[in-house]
Amino acid sequence: MFKSFIGACIATAAFAADGVFDYKKNGADWGTLAGNELCGNGSEQSPINLNDWLSMESKDLAINLKANTYIDYTTASMEKKGDTVIVTTPNGEMELVFNSGSTSEFKLAQFHVHAPSEHTYRGYSYDLEMHFVHTYLDGSLGAVIGVFFDRERGGDGDNLFIDQLNPLWTGTGTVRTNKVNVEGFLDSLNMNEFWSYDGSLTTPPCTEGIKWSVLKEVQPISDVQLAHFTALWANNAAYAGGNGNNREVQSLNGRIVYKSNWSDPANKIATIVLGVLFGLTLIALCTVCCMMKACPNRLGLAKKAAATA
Ligand SMILES: [Zn+2]
Repeated sequence: MFKSFIGACIATAAFAADGVFDYKKNGADWGTLAGNELCGNGSEQSPINLNDWLSMESKDLAINLKANTYIDYTTASMEKKGDTVIVTTPNGEMELVFNSGSTSEFKLAQFHVHAPSEHTYRGYSYDLEMHFVHTYLDGSLGAVIGVFFDRERGGDGDNLFIDQLNPLWTGTGTVRTNKVNVEGFLDSLNMNEFWSYDGSLTTPPCTEGIKWSVLKEVQPISDVQLAHFTALWANNAAYAGGNGNNREVQSLNGRIVYKSNWSDPANKIATIVLGVLFGLTLIALCTVCCMMKACPNRLGLAKKAAATA
């Protein structure tokens, strides 16, 4: 199963190179390709649009990276393929805790890049999304951690981790090795705030059963750094008409998207508004009650008092 999964990743590049699938329609036509029907008729597909209000809060969710399993590579193989940039990273184990409270363990296989992002947040596409692809310990599919990068919402600044991919941008060869600090980067991320849902690979064959964890925190990236990626895809008319290498968002089809327990200002405002509305409703009800019952009695007493006087 592990071989078939890695094979799918390798096949992805081969298909793209052969023109079997591309991003001219951002994946809308992939389901018509033989062997990739799930891309068109699957019910738990990725990516999706994310938000705060329609996600179900769960205090059980957790991403637990196992200490000293992810490493900072002194040399790691990185490759610039037709449809992505991919770095092979065979070290790293994590435990995911799901909404049900159940847990599963995974190991890292590789990470790769999409620009613009595949998942969107309230309809907003981030500049770039990185996918850390994990398998179960037996090699079967799988779990992905998604990390957003954006100049506006993450900060327009040089990202040291992105800089470690620089050897890819010069020279003629596509496979390079370089220092890649995977452990240091992952440890620097906020793993407490994220969305969790069941989805799929975002490239053919769009295999389902993937446990997605998409981090809420957005990372910085500079104009110069982003330009290296957009030169390959979104600003390259020769690559799928310059449509980027991101699949369009998919229908939820009734799936529940969970979010870890984070403090959301929008939710606080909503709570205050609802509290004020509830208070006003109570006052209105009491006023009506007073007018219909208590007030006539008082008026009667007042009349009696006046008559006595
Ligand atoms: Zn991906």
